[in-house]
Amino acid sequence: MMRVPFVDLRAQHDELQTEIDVVLRQAIDESSFIGGPSLGRFEEHFAAYCGTAHAAGCASGTDALKLALMAAGVCPGTEVITVPHTFIATVEAITAVGAQPAFIDIEPTTYCMSADRMAQFLERDCRPGRDGHWVNGRTGRPIVAVLPVHLYGLTADMSPILEIADMYNLRVIEDACQAHGAAYEMGGRMVRAGAIGDAAAFSFYPGKNLGALGDGGAVVSSNQAWDQNMRMWLNHGQTERYVHVSPDGWNGRLDAVQAGVLDVKLKKLDEWNERRRRAVGWYRERLGGDERIVLPAEPDGRRHVYHLFVVRLPDREHARQRLAEQGVGVGLHYPIPLHLQVAYRDLGWKAGDLPESEAAAESILSLPMYPHLTEEQVDHVCSTLLGVLDER
Ligand SMILES: *Cc1c(COP(=O)(O)O)cnc(C)c1O
Repeated sequence: MMRVPFVDLRAQHDELQTEIDVVLRQAIDESSFIGGPSLGRFEEHFAAYCGTAHAAGCASGTDALKLALMAAGVCPGTEVITVPHTFIATVEAITAVGAQPAFIDIEPTTYCMSADRMAQFLERDCRPGRDGHWVNGRTGRPIVAVLPVHLYGLTADMSPILEIADMYNLRVIEDACQAHGAAYEMGGRMVRAGAIGDAAAFSFYPGKNLGALGDGGAVVSSNQAWDQNMRMWLNHGQTERYVHVSPDGWNGRLDAVQAGVLDVKLKKLDEWNERRRRAVGWYRERLGGDERIVLPAEPDGRRHVYHLFVVRLPDREHARQRLAEQGVGVGLHYPIPLHLQVAYRDLGWKAGDLPESEAAAESILSLPMYPHLTEEQVDHVCSTLLGVLDER
């Protein structure tokens, strides 16, 4: 039986083995593990890649989100508009800085934040507050920022989101943890994820499109004051050694070794994203004609980088089980919308409140996706899937 894994991280490192060996050897030779030239080099290259003035390496995507929210002025007692159809880290970062999520629904076709829902929520459910912020009528808390998620490698519909944010005095933080190299057309040119909002968070968790050999992240922005503050917080609230100016800091640094490895892998990111897109082409050829399968949308003016290849199926649980039994690696991103998670029970949301997010969670399935996926493997996944659907 042919087996197709859900992801294959081994293949990317085999491709770069020699260069990665050099980085690891050098780090040990120089015994410089925290900060140093390899971190600075990677930060410079990553900022240039995204098209921002600054990038600060940090310990994880979750830390990157926390840093960006803090820079945006999100603090205890405030709220951030976001979606429930995402990885929990999006919302964890909000509650970690003492704020609360104001959940709004997604667009069913792109799985990303609905700009219409955002406008509707602000128009209907919020009122102007005293300090220039709008206040959530249900909770009485000021809304400071909006946190759209570029889910699965596709950017949210950012032009209307930016426009609405401007009208309601909201900072825009992009959760770009799944969208390294994704782009969105603005004013006739493609702008990369990270350079669209006021700041953006990236994760370098090993399975992301750009992954470290462990945890890592970066927060990017073009605001120098924000960048300075974020660097200060992620390094114990210090501005120079043992001079601590903020009580809100922690150890949220990116290791020099990880930065060195990421710098090597960054050179491959565009090629690897292109290979993901080529694999999607093979999927589309084989599955495109079948009405039972909803393939991912790729709206005009957006470049999807397919961190995940997610389809919607009529009987998802059956397909999920039968594919796994037949050696096809599948995933579920994500099974329980965050507004219905036990962790957020106290926020008072109930089933039916955000129907598009709930419907997506019930019908989505993630099929194998990684740059080194072969046409033969895609062929096998597709024929197995079609066979499984015929069983019903
Ligand atoms: C991976 C991910 C994160 C968090 O990244 P970590 O590096 O694992 O902390 C945040 N948001 C989304 C959408 C993610 O996929």
